[in-house]
Amino acid sequence: MSIFPVRSRLGTGYESKGRVLSEWIALLADDCRWPLKRLVLVSLLMACSASIALGTDIDLRAALDNAREVSYTQNWRDAQVLLDELAPLIDQADVREFTDFHLLEARHLALQDRSDEALNRADMLLDLDLEADQLLQVRQFSANIAVLLRDYELAFDHLLNALMLESELDDPAAALGTYNMASYLFGRVDEHDQAIEYGERALALAQVSDDPNEACIARQRLSPVFKWAGMTERAEAEYREAIRVCLAVGNRLFAGVLQHGLADLLRREGRPEEAVAFAAEAVDALTDSGFVLGEFEARLARVEAEFDLGLTSPERDEEFGVLQAYFNERRLWDQLARLEALLARRAESRGDPDQALIHLRAYFDAREQFLGRDRAMRLAYLQVAFGLRLKEQQIDLLEENARLSRIEAETAAQQRRARSIILLLSLLLAAALAIALARAFRARRHFQNLARHDRLSGLANHGWFFERAEELLNESEKTGRPLFLVIADIDRFKAVNDRYGHHVGDQVLGQVSRRLREVFPEALVGRIGGEEFGVLLTATDVNSVVHDVEQFRRTAPSSTRAGDPAVTVSFGIAAFQRGDTLDVLRERADKALYQAKVAGRDRYIVASASHQADR
Ligand code: GH3
Ligand code: MG
Ligand code: MG
Repeated sequence: MSIFPVRSRLGTGYESKGRVLSEWIALLADDCRWPLKRLVLVSLLMACSASIALGTDIDLRAALDNAREVSYTQNWRDAQVLLDELAPLIDQADVREFTDFHLLEARHLALQDRSDEALNRADMLLDLDLEADQLLQVRQFSANIAVLLRDYELAFDHLLNALMLESELDDPAAALGTYNMASYLFGRVDEHDQAIEYGERALALAQVSDDPNEACIARQRLSPVFKWAGMTERAEAEYREAIRVCLAVGNRLFAGVLQHGLADLLRREGRPEEAVAFAAEAVDALTDSGFVLGEFEARLARVEAEFDLGLTSPERDEEFGVLQAYFNERRLWDQLARLEALLARRAESRGDPDQALIHLRAYFDAREQFLGRDRAMRLAYLQVAFGLRLKEQQIDLLEENARLSRIEAETAAQQRRARSIILLLSLLLAAALAIALARAFRARRHFQNLARHDRLSGLANHGWFFERAEELLNESEKTGRPLFLVIADIDRFKAVNDRYGHHVGDQVLGQVSRRLREVFPEALVGRIGGEEFGVLLTATDVNSVVHDVEQFRRTAPSSTRAGDPAVTVSFGIAAFQRGDTLDVLRERADKALYQAKVAGRDRYIVASASHQADR
């Protein structure tokens, strides 16, 4: 068993302030001829001494650090003397110094075998509003003391709390002590893999620490784990290395604990001579360090090994009694069980079976006690393991939740981006489609126009004229609106072609077409044959139609330009009568035109169902 150390914090504000001041003073003292510089120097010196005189706070911090240093490297009693000197100041100190002071004093209480008091002191500190690092120190300390008191439930409880604090620490090295404790406690409940893992984690942290003592402490925790795990060779090597490291840093206390551990290992391996030597060294080291419980345990290991060697003496008999009283008084059942077993063997070897039986019974009683404690310890471990697993699961759950919400956020962002892109693409597509559609419509209209109109005249062609005429006829059939068909045919057009050529003939066709459009702006006008035109129009009566035809005839195309061939046009006019088909109407108009031709051309004939009128 050993006292678990509180990590030392060196490098105080006092040192650095002092250094800065002395550098300034040295700089100014280089040349003090100038009165101004002298004045500054004197003021600085005064300020410096005032700060030292008034700065009890600075003194306290330095003194505490010094006391801790002494406690860990020399006899704790010397450190306690220093603490006693500081005691009057401590109630006015701030919470950090207050905690450091009491924690160190609690350590000394534990070393004096006043572990209950030590634990109470730590409990008192737990009531304060401590910062995470100091809270951790108190937890680590309490776990250690709980181990010393064999209160494993309490030890595991403090360990669990310390492990929970890990995430709140700025300095990962602060967890070192927790890992050390975890290594030891997990080792004690035979969770060897976990114990080794924590121990190696602690050792790794210790090896990068500024404090060489940390490696000693970590090794002191890790070495026995290999012994408990049954890895004997490894354990021996680790013990030897740990002893070397601890002696090198002057930590006799831990070296003593390790020597005891190694003695125990060697004795179990059937090497009692070596065991006795290490146990003796352990007893000396632990006695010098003032660690009473450790000293007694080492003494037990020594008498065990000596018994194995067959060494007996009245002093040794006396030693058995001292040890038995000590372990009994403190109810240290595992040590007591070992001692009683040894006493039973001794009585047996002396031929005293009655005594052997008494000791054997005492052995079983003690064993029953510590097995009970072992079960309690195992239970406490299970609670910690459960607590840790629960915490891990909670952390996993939180991480998983965080991951999910990250994914959700990313997905939402991606969806927004995708939506924007889709929207943009849709707009572009819609624009492209609209343009394409507009083009298609234009093209369609263009081709429709081409298909429905005559290239030369620009008028509706034969097909389109009669298609439209059919529709208009149907409308008039329904509405009863008066409708008239005029068929116009250029007279002796063949002769125009013959005389002036087709080119001129085409021009004449164009002129006649334009003229028809002008005279009948509202009507459906089409070129229904080579030099033959149809005009379908609504009018109040036939006179209105005749009026228009006459207007056409008055301004014949031939008279518009000098030198143009003189052409005349003959007309057949027919009024739509209800029940007429287009063919019937057309036939009547054709007949009237024919009559106009026969009658000498350059005229119009109005056809009617019953009569026809000449002009
Ligand atoms: P009528 O007074 O009896 O109607 O005599 P016409 O010569 O006008 O009649 P006919 O049917 O004998 O001749 C029509 C002529 O119209 C024949 C053809 O050469 C001419 N023609 C038809 N289409 C075109 C055209 O697109 N351009 C030109 N230049 N001439 C055409
Ligand atoms: Mg003609
Ligand atoms: Mg003709």
